[in-house]
Amino acid sequence: MTTLHTHTASSDCQHLLSQLNDYADGELSAQLCQELEAHLAHCENCSIVLDTLHKTIYLVRHLNSTPPPHIPLSVENRLFAILDLQDFLDQGSD
Ligand SMILES: [Zn+2]
Repeated sequence: MTTLHTHTASSDCQHLLSQLNDYADGELSAQLCQELEAHLAHCENCSIVLDTLHKTIYLVRHLNSTPPPHIPLSVENRLFAILDLQDFLDQGSD
């Protein structure tokens, strides 16, 4: 069992996989995107890689991003009252 029989990705795959990061980031040119998508349509290996990449990126972005602070309306109204902004806001519609 000394024979290493690995299924090496085709040069097509290697070429495209090297650009998957840019593709996932939306930084690839439209032409390259079409090439990639055409390849992905018939290459299961690459589509799996891209799918995994997408999920990873999705998770990373969502884990890193903190949700925007949500201010309850009542608090917002009180804040406006305290800051005397309501008049200012009402005058806004000139
Ligand atoms: Zn491929």
